[in-house]
Amino acid sequence: MSTAKKTAQKRRPPRRTLTEPVVQPIPGESLTSWVGALAQQQGFEMKPLLRELHLDRIGGLSAAEMRLSDPVVRRMEKLSGVDAERLHAMTLARYAGNALPHLPMFSSDGVAVQQWHKGAWFHHSQARWCPKCLRGPNSPRWLLSWKLPWSFACVDHRAFMVTECQACWDTVEFRHDAPPERSCENWTDEGEGTYSLGEPCGFSLALGQPVPVSDDAVLTLQTRVNAWLDGMPAHEDRTLVALAAVLIPLLSPSMVRHGDPLLRYAVRSPRGTTQRQRKGRRPWTDSLRVAAAVYAADRLLCRRYSPAEVAEWIADLRLIDHRRAPWRMDMTELAYGPSLRPNPFVEPLVQRGLITLGGWL
Ligand SMILES: [Zn+2]
Ligand SMILES: [Zn+2]
Repeated sequence: MSTAKKTAQKRRPPRRTLTEPVVQPIPGESLTSWVGALAQQQGFEMKPLLRELHLDRIGGLSAAEMRLSDPVVRRMEKLSGVDAERLHAMTLARYAGNALPHLPMFSSDGVAVQQWHKGAWFHHSQARWCPKCLRGPNSPRWLLSWKLPWSFACVDHRAFMVTECQACWDTVEFRHDAPPERSCENWTDEGEGTYSLGEPCGFSLALGQPVPVSDDAVLTLQTRVNAWLDGMPAHEDRTLVALAAVLIPLLSPSMVRHGDPLLRYAVRSPRGTTQRQRKGRRPWTDSLRVAAAVYAADRLLCRRYSPAEVAEWIADLRLIDHRRAPWRMDMTELAYGPSLRPNPFVEPLVQRGLITLGGWL
């Protein structure tokens, strides 16, 4: 061992154990949120805590939130007393059977994870949140399901998910291997010129005002989607999500004629639907648009159309709204994303030319 390494080891502070009682995960919490709460409660810096949890390699915590390896689970169980089942429930692997199909078996398999990332529908580092949920009694706790585009509204607070900071109107990104931020860290041009640098926005994420849901149907639909996410869907819930998934990029205003005017507004907005994908925004990053798609899917399914008739209906309404350009679906997206195979609605839409398939796996 080199002398430098030896000295570094000597300098490392002695191992600490966690002080009882250890802060417990709240229902539905994400692993990074709980680890952050744990660090705060125990007075740990993140780095030494991650070292104790054997997650100190770069990308370690993010990978753990995807899928926990057995040695890390054992280590976490031993240190925190939180059992394996609850630890696994805080990782995205719990959605591998539905919202995140084909999630790689090992988060250490870099190539497989990268490929899956490209097409999978989840918010890797982009935050979406319910400000009222964040105003809990202790430190703000973030839910795992907020990482999925399928969380479009908070049923408890009857509000749409917030996807942008309400001071700088930009999306909020998480840092890697860190718990979610409490305030917006986007750089603004305030003070630019005077000090040559901008200033961080600093707006508290918990202080934002979410847009209230005015139509109860939206909350009912979110509850049904949640049943699917939790692995307890009725057959109709599964069909609802399958159709909503293909509708998200194909929506046009006529499809939400009777819905909440806000949903119609969201569908009119070109945000996220330009094929150039500005700043990584995809059609499913807008929670209002996802809500609109689920709403339109529900109304359509009430008519008991066959998948071929659904495709025809979508084509007709898009024509009314003069939306002729087909949606180009990437092959990785087809494999890992919205197709949620077997999805009976994809093929007729491809046959009608409303979806074109492109790109390479
Ligand atoms: Zn809430
Ligand atoms: Zn901001």
